[in-house]
Amino acid sequence: MFVFKQNFVEPKKMPRVSYVCSDELIAQCNKIPVLKKRASMVHELIRGYNLHKLMECVKPNLASEENLSLIHSQYYIDYLKNECTAETSIETLDSDDDNGDSDTSDVDDDQLNYGLGYDCPKIYNLWKFVRVIAGASVTAANLLLSNRKIVINWCGGWHHAQRDEAEGFCYVNDIGIAIQRLRTRFQRVLYIDLDIHHGNGVENAFAYTRRVFTVSFHQFQPGFFPGSGSVNDCGNGNGKGYCVNFPYKAHIRGELFIKYFSKTLSEIIVRYQPEACVVQCGADSIVGDPLGGTNLLPEDLAICIERILAWGLPTMFLGGGGYNFQNAARYWTYLTSVICKTKEPLDNDLPDNKYFLRYGPGYELSISRKQFDDSNTENDMETTYQIIRGNLKN
Ligand SMILES: [Zn+2]
Repeated sequence: MFVFKQNFVEPKKMPRVSYVCSDELIAQCNKIPVLKKRASMVHELIRGYNLHKLMECVKPNLASEENLSLIHSQYYIDYLKNECTAETSIETLDSDDDNGDSDTSDVDDDQLNYGLGYDCPKIYNLWKFVRVIAGASVTAANLLLSNRKIVINWCGGWHHAQRDEAEGFCYVNDIGIAIQRLRTRFQRVLYIDLDIHHGNGVENAFAYTRRVFTVSFHQFQPGFFPGSGSVNDCGNGNGKGYCVNFPYKAHIRGELFIKYFSKTLSEIIVRYQPEACVVQCGADSIVGDPLGGTNLLPEDLAICIERILAWGLPTMFLGGGGYNFQNAARYWTYLTSVICKTKEPLDNDLPDNKYFLRYGPGYELSISRKQFDDSNTENDMETTYQIIRGNLKN
């Protein structure tokens, strides 16, 4: 009797987390006028802590026109395609230099119709830009469709872009497009928006369907952008009861935020039973943001992220706002370590990296809370929660 010796080769273990990234994606993300170099700072800090080695790094594909049309109107796509190419852009530096490569010199009526002016000035070769940015989130969605469990794309999360126009520094609704891709396999997708601003573009895209449940926690006060997202807005038509807005006032503290995040999401998870989850982690909800106004730390939001991870669903984590670039890099680096479940906590002394000098004078990972009085009371938050609960379906 022959005995065949078999060489059992231990299959190479696939990392639990996929990370969508490429030089091109970072270069394009760096072009957003108010966010110059932020994408580089985030990626370099993640690399400085060697976190990229714990993940499967995936180069994104360019989004197709068909991908864009999952959310955007043909009018908007045609405008971008015909009027915003390299040939039609005014020649400016197309690099990640700090020198201006946005083109605000010639704002015509068409541009204003499509939201391309003011806070969304035309970027050099905008047509390429939107396909790169949307392509990264489409790639993230495709990874979840091919059985990856967790995907990170910190260059995504542009939640204000509307069907027909750019809005609030967002030129393309990569989130909506990615969710549409996920819907080809997952029957119920839960979208959670943690940015300090209301996720209006994503909510509008899915307000009429029960196939996507949108939840947005955001500051909501007179004059605070974008002005929508009241607690009473809970979807329309068939989508009524499948949209939650949890507005809060300035200087919210971690304890209250975590408590009501947990209560609200526990309720939704039990009733809705989502099959996949997309989380927008805008870093402007961290204390110290020039456009924000919370008293939240990365550690507070990380507790919310851990709750989400505990559901064990296929999940996509995206970036978003965040105008204190150092804090955005600190926050997303910290979240990356939480998502990767690193054995040891990250060293609070920042590692050497290309942008190290920008983190002075402390050069630390941690961010300090401020001495703010929280304008939110437990009573207000409980009232908001009860209204939300009453509006939920089933
Ligand atoms: Zn924001």
